[in-house]
Amino acid sequence: MINFTVGPVQSSDAVRAIGAEQVPYFRTAEFSETMLENERLIKKFAHTTENSRVVFLTCSGSGGMETAIMNCLNKNDKALVINGGSFGERFVELLTLHEIPFTEIKLEYGKALKPEHLVQYERQGYTAFLLQKHETSTGVHYDIDLVADFCTRNGCFLIVDTISTFLCDPFDMEATGAGIMITGSQKALACAPGIAVMVLAPSALKRIEENKCSCQYLDLKLALENMERGQTPWTPAVGILRQINVRLKEIEAMGGAEVEIARCAELARYFREKLVQHDLPFEIVSESLSNAVTPLHPTTQSAFEIFLKIKDEYGMWVCPNGGDMKDMIFRVGHIGYLQKEDYDKLIAAFIDLREKKFI
Ligand SMILES: *Cc1c(COP(=O)(O)O)cnc(C)c1O
Repeated sequence: MINFTVGPVQSSDAVRAIGAEQVPYFRTAEFSETMLENERLIKKFAHTTENSRVVFLTCSGSGGMETAIMNCLNKNDKALVINGGSFGERFVELLTLHEIPFTEIKLEYGKALKPEHLVQYERQGYTAFLLQKHETSTGVHYDIDLVADFCTRNGCFLIVDTISTFLCDPFDMEATGAGIMITGSQKALACAPGIAVMVLAPSALKRIEENKCSCQYLDLKLALENMERGQTPWTPAVGILRQINVRLKEIEAMGGAEVEIARCAELARYFREKLVQHDLPFEIVSESLSNAVTPLHPTTQSAFEIFLKIKDEYGMWVCPNGGDMKDMIFRVGHIGYLQKEDYDKLIAAFIDLREKKFI
């Protein structure tokens, strides 16, 4: 199978080799060294300030989203949240569950965030802002500078879900002034699923210190205390943390995050150009594309039927959408261990389906 989904994605041979090894005991100086190296490289690739910290939680990316809210927000906050798809909706559900007062900015599927969406919320006493830098469900890459400026002017604590954009699109955590960025092991980090990575700026560390977290397992005070020596409070997904280490060093050896971002951008450009060249019956639904994924609306067939056909008859996974987008949108990812030849095969499959009058 060739995997064009947005996660789990294909891993490099070196990362997969780690998956085949015995999982080592982890309360050791060697494992601590691996963890501290992971922290150092994540900070470098995310362009953080020196006094920012990183924690690795054993949960998927959504666990990182909930952890951010439980540790850094409380009932005295007044949050703004962008909801332009299923991941924005998740933030809304989490804020509701944890009883954080909030206002939702609902954007139509596929629409970009514009200055006029924010104007009415200026100087209204908002204390926090939550968004996906890239709303993966509809493939919309939001204007983070616009949000960062709003947060600076209004003194908002910024929580950015970069789960599907870290290592795909440029991101400078220090420049945005974000308090927290969250990513996960199975997106562009291209490892097995199971680890959420959280980068915490000093503003987040202060909130964590002052806030009470009503969950022991996801209490960042404990995670931070342990991470001082490269450890975790509980047994982590040791094997995946070792995969992350190999992957981060691979990226470093290639020339760093910018080289990986350029590689991803080139795959996206290549695929999008082929779509146009062959005049395939798909419309790109997003006003503002990330390099991570191309969201497509097929004009002649159900998106989900195309996903099934490509999986069952051509041995490839494109990424289906759920809920009310199931028949409308499917996505083609550009993250993980993929090459241009893989896209040639996918394009050939689409052309074949058109010849057979399926699309
Ligand atoms: C994948 C993803 C998540 C988290 O999903 P998990 O299945 O919990 O790993 C959250 N936000 C965005 C933007 C994502 O792409």
